Amino acid sequence: MQCDSCRREITRQVKVVTQREDYCLACFSTLQHFPYDYRIIGKLDYALFAADWSAEEELFLLEAVEKYGFGNWQEIAENMPTDKSIEEI
Ligand SMILES: [Zn+2]
Repeated sequence: MQCDSCRREITRQVKVVTQREDYCLACFSTLQHFPYDYRIIGKLDYALFAADWSAEEELFLLEAVEKYGFGNWQEIAENMPTDKSIEEI
């Protein structure tokens, strides 16, 4: 599978598929108008910021910080769907 914009190989990448086109995340994020119907395909199992955290865990952490408040690590740790310790968080 190729990105219909930049032609990059995206078979094993996180990608966005619409009814007509498939995009890599970079190209999709630059679209002027998001398609009405689209799906994100692929696991967020790579690191964004920390090598020992997955992107999915990092996104959960950001959401938890927003929800429970920065510094509220006990509550954040209890509500993270991972086995990260309070110290790691
Ligand atoms: Zn692309």
